[in-house]
Amino acid sequence: MPELPEVETTVRGLARYLDGERLARVETRRGDLRRPFPPDLVQVLTGATVTGLSRRAKYGLIHTDRSQTMVFHLGMSGRWRIDPDELGKHDHLVLETGSSHLLALCDPRRFGSVDLVPTDGLDSWAPFAAMGPEPLGPGLTAAYLKEALAGRSAAIKLMLLDQRIVAGLGNIYVCEALFRAGISPVRAAGKVSAAALARLVPAIKAVLAEAIEAGGSTLRDYAQPDGELGYFSKQFDVYDREGQPCVRCGAPIRRIVQGGRSTWYCAGCQK
Ligand code: ZN
Repeated sequence: MPELPEVETTVRGLARYLDGERLARVETRRGDLRRPFPPDLVQVLTGATVTGLSRRAKYGLIHTDRSQTMVFHLGMSGRWRIDPDELGKHDHLVLETGSSHLLALCDPRRFGSVDLVPTDGLDSWAPFAAMGPEPLGPGLTAAYLKEALAGRSAAIKLMLLDQRIVAGLGNIYVCEALFRAGISPVRAAGKVSAAALARLVPAIKAVLAEAIEAGGSTLRDYAQPDGELGYFSKQFDVYDREGQPCVRCGAPIRRIVQGGRSTWYCAGCQK
């Protein structure tokens, strides 16, 4: 599943082809992903000029000169294909630029979404309105977390996955950041010390930034025909490493289930 770094990499890759470009042709090749495409999507976007791209949590935003922003979510399996040799049955939305580049949103499982949102109303759009601060933005600080988690008895792992606390953090990077900060994933969120939170915030920012950098280094390949945006491999310290030795102390990495999802951690290094 694409997480925040993959979405950020996707947005940066798309920007190379879209920023400042006119959308010469827009085609929906079926009616829906997880929900129907906006009925006026083709009408609004055709002929529009892209004025910039950005990301909020795990959503990609394509801003246009028509006071509307196309907001996409990659769901479980979505990715953008650049200049594909031919369109496949899972390419559900196609954007053709004035420079004749073809960008296809491919989503085999169709858990993704595409919305049109008034650009000046993005902050109050329902999925964004209740979100916490961006993990890479200035709003995520140890002081903010101390206040947001005060008195909370739920496990720190679960609270970090709550989009109202921090926007866009997923399972992989929460596991990695807790390991790096030496915090047990099962510790009650309100009981995590100020010193531990002061280690956690830079750990969150670092694991995300490193993943984005790793993705950025694969961006070179996207210039090739049929390039795909959004996926890259990275080495993790604990994620999906059950039974393998901890990179720090050598003890076997453990896997537990919290909130229906796996957590990997080192019981020796994380207290
Ligand atoms: Zn360890």
